[in-house]
Amino acid sequence: MKYKSTRNPQIKITSAQAIAQGLSHEGGLFVPEELPKMGENDILNLCEKSYAERAFEIFRLFLEDFSDEEIRYCVENAYGGNFDTENIAEISHLLKGTYILELWHGPTCAFKDMALQILPYLLTVSAKKTIPDKKTAILVATSGDTGKAALEGFKNVEGTTISVFYPEEGVSDMQKRQMQTQEGDNVFVCAVKGNFDDCQNGVKAIFTDKNFASELEKNGIVLSSANSINWGRLCPQIVYYISAYAELIKNEEIRYGEKINIVVPTGNFGNILAAYYAKEMGLPINKLICASNANNILTDFINTGVYDRNREFYTTISPSMDILISSNLERLLYHLSGENTDLVNKWFSSLKENGRYEVTPEVKEKISGLFYAGCCNDKETKAAIKDCFGSYSYLMDTHTAVAYKVYGDYKKSTGDNTKTVIASTANPYKFGAAVFEALGGINSGEGTDEFDIIEKLEAMTKTVIPEPLAATKNKAVRFRDVIEREKMPETVMNFLTK
Ligand SMILES: *Cc1c(COP(=O)(O)O)cnc(C)c1O
Repeated sequence: MKYKSTRNPQIKITSAQAIAQGLSHEGGLFVPEELPKMGENDILNLCEKSYAERAFEIFRLFLEDFSDEEIRYCVENAYGGNFDTENIAEISHLLKGTYILELWHGPTCAFKDMALQILPYLLTVSAKKTIPDKKTAILVATSGDTGKAALEGFKNVEGTTISVFYPEEGVSDMQKRQMQTQEGDNVFVCAVKGNFDDCQNGVKAIFTDKNFASELEKNGIVLSSANSINWGRLCPQIVYYISAYAELIKNEEIRYGEKINIVVPTGNFGNILAAYYAKEMGLPINKLICASNANNILTDFINTGVYDRNREFYTTISPSMDILISSNLERLLYHLSGENTDLVNKWFSSLKENGRYEVTPEVKEKISGLFYAGCCNDKETKAAIKDCFGSYSYLMDTHTAVAYKVYGDYKKSTGDNTKTVIASTANPYKFGAAVFEALGGINSGEGTDEFDIIEKLEAMTKTVIPEPLAATKNKAVRFRDVIEREKMPETVMNFLTK
């Protein structure tokens, strides 16, 4: 199976090239030429398998240029002891027929681990096939979760280095602490004076600097990205939806063929796009429910067909969804427009020039058939955390709470009682201060730090702080540098050629 670009019909490359390269040169995203199908037997065959074995079966369909041995090497290294549960992704129950798919049992306690634990292996195998004898240097600008998950994924992976830049004032205390205490011999972390956009622009400037690239070339190094538009991040996300369905059959919650809804708290549209791919592969899915916070650009888009980023940006208590450009939407629009690269080019140049585009009535109708969209502000998010804990003694993080609230609205407005899986994207302790407040805790006061708050939350809810977060308290800070944005190229070069 080959991969094509959403913006240029001439491009056709292997999966290894798509993963090693990340983004197509003209700016398009790589998509599979044809989606593999999974029927009843394929799904039933997964029921008795482990998560890594399920991942193996699904990756084989997408990575035809990888040998079985290579795929096995990737899945076995990624989905083992790095997670705090043998099932890798756990399913919890609220009401009968409402399930929470916990995607945060990995080393950084957010769902980004599901893809970033395996990406380094997919990337090094891909690089070996396409650019042998080169070292890969990963550069990441992060607003929190991605940076830490990428650091944990790439630490000590042979043939790679990873450099992460985060905004000095733009991440939570816990996120900063997680990154500053990062272990590994091939890692570099640095704060930048400025906001997330400054970091992002700084990294982009390095990627497009030809002199920088040729200087690295002399040292046998190529730059790459662990960004969520890489196919190597999307493919692992398809796995957990299919795996969850097989698990529900195994647990006799559903029979094969019974349709389920999937609810996803959405930012960059990667996670929900993976659910769409699972549905197109034949997984019996009814509605895809797209949940946004106050940055509800996707709610408006799905309901009107107009994508308009000319709006206020809100900083919310679900910061990983504070996004006004949902990059992965481009892949959906490519498929729904009948792979019409002309239309995709037109829409995305309009987005670049005017901050806005409107899809055709045909595409809008297809979107309405597949998706339901809703949104939720901070106040409603906190109320959802309280309600869920009160009703089911289940503690959710702020992102999952957005999905919970929107799902409640969906049920009310449609009366649909289809069994439903809510994707849970972070452990509640990762956003402990907001969760504690939602339950009525008061966390201001002299000398209160992140650890005081999560310890109070632990006592209040009789739940347990996950080990990787607790461990950061006593870990040595390794990275204290704060630099001006202009110093980023020089700083990266020093690290890479030292
Ligand atoms: C990244 C992230 C999201 C958003 O996922 P997308 O794939 O960007 O839609 C939601 N919740 C958490 C906790 C995240 O880290």
